Amino acid sequence: MAKICIDLDGVLANFHLEFIQRAFRSHGITIGSEPVDYDYLDDYRDIFVEEVMSGLFRTCPVYKANVDYVNELIETTEHEVYFITARTTDEAVKWTYDLRRKVCEDTHDWLREHIPSHPHTNLIFTDTKFEAVCKIGGDIMVEDNLRTAAKVVGCCHSFLVDRPWNRESAAKEADRRDSTLSMQRIHRVSEIGNTLIQLDKWEKRYEG
Ligand SMILES: [Mg+2]
Repeated sequence: MAKICIDLDGVLANFHLEFIQRAFRSHGITIGSEPVDYDYLDDYRDIFVEEVMSGLFRTCPVYKANVDYVNELIETTEHEVYFITARTTDEAVKWTYDLRRKVCEDTHDWLREHIPSHPHTNLIFTDTKFEAVCKIGGDIMVEDNLRTAAKVVGCCHSFLVDRPWNRESAAKEADRRDSTLSMQRIHRVSEIGNTLIQLDKWEKRYEG
């Protein structure tokens, strides 16, 4: 049995698509289809807060293949699944009690809808994912953020779901000498099921 830690935005929930569509629908702003980094959000903090309060995190579309796989994982295996998210930790946002509560409630409701059999005590909000994964004793972390993926290689198998916003930065990060080793230890995958195929291999290896 493995402890599998999974990020939400960019892995299971398509945050960018929901935000971009809301920005256009409610504010007439055209941001573009797929961002190559998170920096664009810096220009839209007020809109972000407004949309969070109107349920952005409740209505995010899913990355279907990934969500289907996690449901199958929870329903058919003994592996423990933890969701670890940095929602509510953006320092550029003034986090009022109501705003934070709205994110928590909507995240729980979103999980109940899309991953109904998940034990919802296993949802962690944190700005230090590395520490959270270490504390849990996680065997695997699945991320879309390259920096986080590079950091958690220190305590578990690190998987990076391939997205436009982690390709550009990957090249820049690889140029940094001190991070080259971490980069080499990240497994880049197209979808989350690919992590679990590898997990099966490891388990067979342990058994052998
Ligand atoms: Mg993410």
